[in-house]
Amino acid sequence: MKSFNKKHSRRKFISTVVVAGAGFSTLSSFSFCSNPAKVKNKDTMNRKKLGIALVGLGSYAGGQLAPALQQTEHCYLAGIVTGTPSKIPTWKDQYNIPDENIYNYQNFDTIKDNNAIDIVYVVLPNSMHAEYVIRAAQAGKHVICEKPMAITVEDCDRMIDVCKKAGKRLSIGYRLHFEPYNLEMVRLAKEKTFGELKRMSAGFGFRPPSGVWRLKKELSGGGPLMDVGIYCIQGFCYVSGSEPISVTAKEGPKTDPEKFKEVEESLTWQFEMPGGVIAEGKTSYGEGMNFLKAEAEKGTFQLTSAFNYSGQRGETSQGPMNFMQVNQQSRQMDDFALAIHDNRPSPVPGEMGKRDVTLLRAIYESMETGKKIQIKL
Ligand code: NAD
Repeated sequence: MKSFNKKHSRRKFISTVVVAGAGFSTLSSFSFCSNPAKVKNKDTMNRKKLGIALVGLGSYAGGQLAPALQQTEHCYLAGIVTGTPSKIPTWKDQYNIPDENIYNYQNFDTIKDNNAIDIVYVVLPNSMHAEYVIRAAQAGKHVICEKPMAITVEDCDRMIDVCKKAGKRLSIGYRLHFEPYNLEMVRLAKEKTFGELKRMSAGFGFRPPSGVWRLKKELSGGGPLMDVGIYCIQGFCYVSGSEPISVTAKEGPKTDPEKFKEVEESLTWQFEMPGGVIAEGKTSYGEGMNFLKAEAEKGTFQLTSAFNYSGQRGETSQGPMNFMQVNQQSRQMDDFALAIHDNRPSPVPGEMGKRDVTLLRAIYESMETGKKIQIKL
């Protein structure tokens, strides 16, 4: 996704990363991870690096995940699964991938016989996630699935169920749970540095080119909400440490009905959260935006560049935030590898992916019916 993969000028000054203890306890059933992957001790250093196979060699796999896997400590790029043979030579050479670790969609299930692959990472268009997560788990592999986990809640249930039955871990590619500025937003809310949280707002949008799978409902499941609005939903849940109770949503504006004939071009929604907190979200394929703001009794804290791969910027009503820029994807994948080694839950499990798909669907239901929807999680 090139438009939010712009090169940001990196800050020269690197301050101490304030990362609180692992696993914040929250009102939600999930805790926000503080990057245990970075906690090094003799144990973690001596562990076998787990082999990851990427399924789908598109822009996120090629532009972000494969480079991030050159920086991971607990996992590495061991294999690839692709339907496009012409991509193989470049990947093979660039990442030193042996022939026996290269699969296509037809022979993918034989990956079960390959001990070099411990984890399969599904980076395909949204509607294909369910099939490949299920096939990976049935082949005896742990799985990371890109967001959104699936296009229906029923698919999420099947994915969780099959992984459980196979005794395999399932986690979602929620990289911002490992990013210091977003972690700071969580800390400020949780410690009530500015008092009780009152209101949140978030927006994420960019302009995709015409003709891409993101605009085809069968593959995407929906428009910008499925693709990038999900980051706003995530932000509301991790900052507040709670989950929405109800939603009202409205489509629009639609400035290009031809380009957006299958999916919404933009939409806004409002969640009611526990404790009377209101969260207002906005997402668009017609307008660039990228922010996450929290208003509390005695001040505000916000990220004015919140969801990108790098270049986060943030400030509170007391001044700017200043944290280290990290490779979010390396941290995310290392944490999953350590969760497997340590037999502890991932902070971004399949159940969280399902929760978010439930919220996405509730937003669409409200958008389509014009009604306020009570959310059942
Ligand atoms: P992309 O279009 O660049 O890549 C998609 C890949 O899937 C390509 O290799 C393509 O060949 C393959 N593919 C297989 N069958 C296909 C079909 N029927 N139609 C289209 N492509 C098909 O997309 P992307 O940006 O890499 O996104 C892939 C997944 O990763 C999506 O689920 C997306 O939401 C997610 N993603 C996550 C992040 C993040 O920050 N976590 C960022 C970008 C994308």
